[in-house]
Amino acid sequence: MEEIAITNNNLPRVVIIGAGFAGLHLVKMLEKKPVQLVLLDQNNHHQFQPLLYQVAIGGLEPDSVVSPVRKLFKSCSNMIFRMVKVESVDAENKRVITNLGFVKYDYLVIATGSSTNFYGLKNIEDNSIGLKSINDAINLRSWILQNLEKSIDGIGEEEKQKLIKFVVVGGGPAGVEMAGALAEFKKYLLANDYPEINSDYMKIYLVQAGDRVLPTMSERSSFHAMKTLRKLGVEVVLNARVNDYDGQHLHYSGPGGKDQILSGVIIWTAGVKGNAVEGFKQSSIVAGNRFAVNEYNQVGDYKDIFAIGDIAFMQTPAFPAGHPMVAQVAIQQGRNLGRNILSLVKTGEVKNKFRYRDKGSMAIIGKKDAVADIKSIFFNGKFGWLIWSVIHLISLTGFKNKVAVAVNWAVKYFTYEKANQLIIRRYAPGKVQQ
Ligand SMILES: Cc1cc2nc3c(=O)[nH]c(=O)nc-3n(C[C@H](O)[C@H](O)[C@H](O)COP(=O)(O)OP(=O)(O)OC[C@H]3O[C@@H](n4cnc5c(N)ncnc54)[C@H](O)[C@@H]3O)c2cc1C
Repeated sequence: MEEIAITNNNLPRVVIIGAGFAGLHLVKMLEKKPVQLVLLDQNNHHQFQPLLYQVAIGGLEPDSVVSPVRKLFKSCSNMIFRMVKVESVDAENKRVITNLGFVKYDYLVIATGSSTNFYGLKNIEDNSIGLKSINDAINLRSWILQNLEKSIDGIGEEEKQKLIKFVVVGGGPAGVEMAGALAEFKKYLLANDYPEINSDYMKIYLVQAGDRVLPTMSERSSFHAMKTLRKLGVEVVLNARVNDYDGQHLHYSGPGGKDQILSGVIIWTAGVKGNAVEGFKQSSIVAGNRFAVNEYNQVGDYKDIFAIGDIAFMQTPAFPAGHPMVAQVAIQQGRNLGRNILSLVKTGEVKNKFRYRDKGSMAIIGKKDAVADIKSIFFNGKFGWLIWSVIHLISLTGFKNKVAVAVNWAVKYFTYEKANQLIIRRYAPGKVQQ
């Protein structure tokens, strides 16, 4: 295997795998510092996952929520980017093995995030779609629009209904936001844009294993979200454990025993697992396929290998079950590690233990409502929505034109006038589904 050609400039080399929230914020901390940064990602872009559902529903175009890494760091003279897929780490020889060759490191940071977890449900994996990447969002947009088109002519009534019965599995923020957006699509767009479709046929279900949606938020937020979703026409099914999909029906075990929902589109937001790279002892990897790290984000016994963001599992007295897999943890760990790497380079020691500053959690429910728990204060309704929007727009760090995105988003959001209802590439759903 060849070494990837990267000039060695005699500065300590920090190799970062992953240009997500964690990786990008680490690069920002180490920009123009006396280290050589090598950023590796399988894609050439950073993606803003919290707004993927807007792309899926045609509310935003894809390039509003993804940004090319090279452009983001145009002025970062000590960073080199390579679009490669990392396959494993050879810690003994301090090398990262990629699909195009190996890269040597002095310090290695794994910031590979997480991907959809189907918990071994093969039929579900083959026939549903997750919402973790811009690819997923564009595919889902195609799938929704294709089914709407297909449901118009030449098929029986039951098939028509099946095609436009959408089931979102997983009642966390992503599931709640997706279900709310689909309900508003039905409310504001269906009759106008698809007058041939009987709108009673379009149904949206949100299936949740626990006894409330948004289980990581306050009970008030859960209750408000559920009430709002139901008002929008979403059928919220609680205490339901999904176990199979046969191409016609989604099967689940609920409080009343086994049950099923006829459905043509299953959107799976029910879980994620870490994108752990190979080459580590099994003891370094914990449940959820994440790397166990100490409070400095060091992996196992390694002093020079770190994991940050979703891929890192850090247990502390305040977070006995690990930190939440959210953007703020990834951002703050990226920044903290930046300080620690600088101190390692200077003094050979890491100095700053990671302390998470929880800025609260939020979820949007349709166009006019949202819930937010910020420092044990609960906001909802239009005010919650406003907080959600401002925070998300501010967080679109480095995106080419925040103002343009904001205006574009607001216009589309409130009018649905120019919704992006484009089937640019066809999506061929899985094996069971016809
Ligand atoms: C639909 C959705 C909505 C969300 N909404 C919110 C929200 O409202 N608020 C919030 O705080 N959080 C939200 N999150 C969670 C948040 O997006 C994640 O916690 C955050 O992205 C984690 O950042 P990260 O840097 O660890 O990983 P990521 O942002 O996932 O980045 C990982 C990067 O690693 C790259 N990579 C992975 N494996 C390899 C490999 N082998 N080789 C090369 N590159 C690789 C990937 O391409 C990717 O660029 C949401 C997530 C989803 C999916």
